[in-house]
Amino acid sequence: MIAAHPDDENTALLAYFARGRKVRTGYLSLTRGEGGQNLIGPEQGDALGVIRTQELLAARKIDGAEQFFTRAIDFGFTKTAQETFEKWGHDKILSDVVWVIRRFQPDVIVLRFTGTPRDGHGQHQVSALLGKEAFSAAADPKQFPEQLQWVQPWQAKRIFWNTFAFTRQQEEEAAKIPNQIAIDLGTYDPVLGHSYAEIAGMSRSMHRSQGMGAPERRGSSKNYLALVAGEPATKDAFENIDTTWNRIPGGASVGKILAQAAHDFDIEHPEKSVPALLKAKKDMAGLHQPVVEPKQRDLDEAIALCSGLWLDAVADKYAVTPGGSLKISATALDRSPLAVGVESVDIDGAAKASTDLKHDSPLAFNEPHVSTLTVSIPANEPYSQPYWLREPKQGETYTVPDQLDIGLAENPPLLNAHFHLVVAGEKVEVIRHVAYRYIERSQGELTRPVIVEPEIALRLAEGARIFPNAAARSIDLQVEANVAEAAGLVQIHVPDAWSKEPQSRDFKLSGVGQQSELSFQVSPPAAHDSQGELTASATVGGRNIAVGMQVIHYPHIPIQVLFPPSQTKLVRSDIGLSAKTIGYIMGAGDEVPEALRQLGADVVVLNADDLARCDLRRFDAVVTGVRAYNTRPDLRANQARLLEYVKNGGTMIVQYNVLDGGFVGGDPASVASIGPYPIKIGRDRVTVEEAPVEMLTTNALLEKPNKITSKDFEGWVQERGLYFASEWDSHYQPLFETHDPGDKPLRGGTLYTKYGKGVYIFTAFSWFRELPSGVPGAYRIFANFLSAGKTE
Ligand SMILES: [Zn+2]
Repeated sequence: MIAAHPDDENTALLAYFARGRKVRTGYLSLTRGEGGQNLIGPEQGDALGVIRTQELLAARKIDGAEQFFTRAIDFGFTKTAQETFEKWGHDKILSDVVWVIRRFQPDVIVLRFTGTPRDGHGQHQVSALLGKEAFSAAADPKQFPEQLQWVQPWQAKRIFWNTFAFTRQQEEEAAKIPNQIAIDLGTYDPVLGHSYAEIAGMSRSMHRSQGMGAPERRGSSKNYLALVAGEPATKDAFENIDTTWNRIPGGASVGKILAQAAHDFDIEHPEKSVPALLKAKKDMAGLHQPVVEPKQRDLDEAIALCSGLWLDAVADKYAVTPGGSLKISATALDRSPLAVGVESVDIDGAAKASTDLKHDSPLAFNEPHVSTLTVSIPANEPYSQPYWLREPKQGETYTVPDQLDIGLAENPPLLNAHFHLVVAGEKVEVIRHVAYRYIERSQGELTRPVIVEPEIALRLAEGARIFPNAAARSIDLQVEANVAEAAGLVQIHVPDAWSKEPQSRDFKLSGVGQQSELSFQVSPPAAHDSQGELTASATVGGRNIAVGMQVIHYPHIPIQVLFPPSQTKLVRSDIGLSAKTIGYIMGAGDEVPEALRQLGADVVVLNADDLARCDLRRFDAVVTGVRAYNTRPDLRANQARLLEYVKNGGTMIVQYNVLDGGFVGGDPASVASIGPYPIKIGRDRVTVEEAPVEMLTTNALLEKPNKITSKDFEGWVQERGLYFASEWDSHYQPLFETHDPGDKPLRGGTLYTKYGKGVYIFTAFSWFRELPSGVPGAYRIFANFLSAGKTE
């Protein structure tokens, strides 16, 4: 299945093929969904892509499919395939789709989209356009011949579109396509105890960062596959495709043995199947085709399962530094009457080790047998940064130097343990990832991947550094020790014309986890605007370390650790702000409060208690965070208090909210109550970040304290704004007009009104992206909004 984003996939269809038909099933998402919004925490961009990657893997564990990606970055919503191709490069991403097809060798490809504007999002359109092209390009040895040193050309038998419709009209059109194959995804599977649509609900609900909690639908649920290219089929997706062992020369006997083994399977005595499985293993060993290799691993697993074996390899800690060592405990436990011996355990991956003793005497029944190994991690082993984030990006694609990494969902495990077993006299090999196992009192036993980390992490707080005037600013660095007795020297590097004091600072930390704050005074160039990068590096024991550490911890995914470079953007621009104290009502999560503090404002994040009780008059302005009305019942409950605050002279700024996310305690279609006068939120957005913006008024709001000009709309990132107001009361004055190329003019992006003695501003421009990215114009405009009560 090919589509563009985490959540585009049809999880019910994946579950049907993987769990129901038991065919090897994969989902190729062109992107990791890093351009979306995060509904469960503050992570954006790279970190959000890592969360969505893990959510897809969690979903795949439930629906049984595998997961792949290309190097394409989700750069946010776009209306056209053309913009998408311009940002990604057609050949680069086609090459990745071809590569994944050649490696996976699907018989049948299913597209989620059509490749036409009907699909909506430009990235959706591109997923289908590239899928269609790759269907034939993968089979053509003249296309991407550099891949052929690793893979063979591959021709899938057919490619379908899994029809869907956004509208009634689209539904009628799709229904007219002839010869569609119908699949009832509501079919109940008595072995699984669920229908595929039910499984889909569980799988889809893993997309928590997108708020995709989904029902487990019961009852008939028809889905359709319409042929796009390849050999026609009338009844079944796999028509005229031999999915049995007969398709592999010499494979017929394997098929026969396995069918008999399945037929004879005794659920109370699975070990009785082992002799047949060992026989199949012998026959399978003589078959040499890429499709057989995963089956050999599956068969070894099946033998281990039927033999009642528990095999496990854990490290004594979850992290190790380059040059450090890990102690690994490899446990084998035989819980069946069958005699099984462990001949040896080998470790491979970043380091190699083998047990020196050969234990071929059978394991004692139900007594764990533990082999202990020590591995030394090479001194030049890279930190466990996700492979796609190791090198600087090239525009809107990731840089992946090793072709064999392309397509992989995540880094391969640092270490694997190979258990060499003797089962009923035959050699069987079972592989386990080496993990770290721990107990969380509130949750029970958990595992997390073993990683390589630096001796220290050198953290710069996220987001750009703003210099709103010519004064020097203090830049704080946090050094955190990952080892005992870490000492060294930290230096920062600033662009020409900027200066720093002191040149370096030293640190000494005694215990693991200990932190130290180091401050440097940084001065901008005198009297002119300037932008540049500040980088920091530490020297610890002769090693240069220039990365921080970001730990991502959510209950539905394994703990993820990123090592972002220790760098930040420096921005010098004159930004006046008359507001001194700001109350901020956090919604789904954003980094705007930290950004506003950089202007010298005192920002207080307001909780439910504050909203109900605190004296709002102490704030020069109150700001609601992104989607605050979607996520905060306490905000809606205290709306009257907030409007009263405005009436008495306060300034209130409301950022964007969504229609589809569900409005807490209200009807999304008539969200009159987010402002003092009716405002209706729509779905309009302006996705081209360079789209011209016209100022519609000479309101003082655009004059003081900063004179706003068209220059302030330069250098924006990702988009102008989203979920603009579609209708509003005549009390409101729209401040700006902007629109995507070819679209109708939109004035609902920012609305202003006086209310009583105060000011109310609704603004769906994407401040939550622009401010943390250090866009000076965005700061200047937002500063004027905050200052509104003081400038009039
Ligand atoms: Zn999508």
